[in-house]
Amino acid sequence: MDRPDQGHFGSNGAWEGLIEAERFAALLAGYPEQMDRMERFDPEVVSLLRNHEVWRAVHGSNGVETDLTTQCRWIEALASRCTSTAVLVQSQLTVGHTILLSGSPMAGELLEEMRNGTIWGWGLTEAEAGSDILSMKTTAHQEGSEYVIRGSKRFISNAGIATRYLVFARTKAERGSKSISAFVVPSDSLGLSIARYEHKMGLRASPTGDVVLDDVRVPASSAIGNIGEGVGLALSTLRWSRPLIGAVSVGVARGAFEELLRVVGPSNDELRKLTTLHQAKGHKIAELLMQVFAARALLYDVTTRADSSGELPAMWEASSTKAFCSEVAMKVASEALEVAGREAVAVGAPLQRYYRDAKILQIFEGTNQIQKNAIMKELGLVNFAVR
Ligand SMILES: Cc1cc2nc3c(=O)[nH]c(=O)nc-3n(C[C@H](O)[C@H](O)[C@H](O)COP(=O)(O)OP(=O)(O)OC[C@H]3O[C@@H](n4cnc5c(N)ncnc54)[C@H](O)[C@@H]3O)c2cc1C
Repeated sequence: MDRPDQGHFGSNGAWEGLIEAERFAALLAGYPEQMDRMERFDPEVVSLLRNHEVWRAVHGSNGVETDLTTQCRWIEALASRCTSTAVLVQSQLTVGHTILLSGSPMAGELLEEMRNGTIWGWGLTEAEAGSDILSMKTTAHQEGSEYVIRGSKRFISNAGIATRYLVFARTKAERGSKSISAFVVPSDSLGLSIARYEHKMGLRASPTGDVVLDDVRVPASSAIGNIGEGVGLALSTLRWSRPLIGAVSVGVARGAFEELLRVVGPSNDELRKLTTLHQAKGHKIAELLMQVFAARALLYDVTTRADSSGELPAMWEASSTKAFCSEVAMKVASEALEVAGREAVAVGAPLQRYYRDAKILQIFEGTNQIQKNAIMKELGLVNFAVR
């Protein structure tokens, strides 16, 4: 019988197909603390991702798209070592899924570029449009065979390292579910600039910035999906991408748990003595294991059911997964810090990084309050119809 921390969490092959992801994630071991300190994504990590064909593994190839479970397993493995790297790959998969769902004639070509390592950013949020995306002010006006995009997107992951952005913009002045459309915008477009970068408490290696679109002209064929269907496309994408954030969260929870075991684990003779003090510690560690185990069970229950049905997870399932797993990541990282004690709060110690990264997981891809609204809506408890 496997030990709980090895059979399920380790790289000993308990999970078919996970070995490659775990092996790759182990290569990241030297980077996260240094990238966190430098607040910069190391280009060597991007090269590693490309050279090991990680994007091919997560996106699929030869016309066969990778399933949600496989994507989540990869993301979990990456996040267990480096949250910023996991989020880089997760952002790609999110854009990739929007493109797939759109049925765009460009889909095949764009996905092939992604498999070859093109980095994308997903541009939905604005200064005054976070949870309420219909408040967005960025506009796209048609002029002949082009759209002219004007506005600014805030807190966009992969800003500056992306070579393409998927930008959501208002194509109708009136507020409403048919007022927004999605466009592919190359990063070298005239009028596109990165105005500033955020200095964040967590996910510090993942660049987050303001993407400014100053009358950027794109061909009308750059629209992804039909004009006016951007909100529907974004919401359907969230049914795929929220479980992906669930996977980042399980990875962070597991990474923090494994780090805790490394710091105070059974190799520590004192713990084996089971004095009252250490039994209390041991109980805490056991509770954290249960949390990671429960979050992972929820995640893969949702993904395997989605994969076997061939349908997107329901929004309530996607939202439950995102909210539950990110709460677990926060709890495990926070309590692991407490159990590990003073060494764990030092700059450069992995546990304090997991803790800072976990906080962001509760906020992005829809805050956990917004996930509860989505669940309430599907339970028929309240009507949050897009208006
Ligand atoms: C590191 C990071 C990376 C990001 N990357 C991207 C990206 O790549 N692309 C992108 O488009 N966006 C990105 N975002 C933005 C992210 O999706 C938003 O931050 C998120 O949707 C929340 O919006 P907000 O920050 O404006 O908060 P607000 O909407 O201002 O919310 C503030 C608070 O009010 C609560 N609240 C708001 N409305 C309600 C309501 N109706 N009911 C109950 N509570 C409510 C929220 O839960 C929250 O607690 C990123 C954010 C971060 C932190």
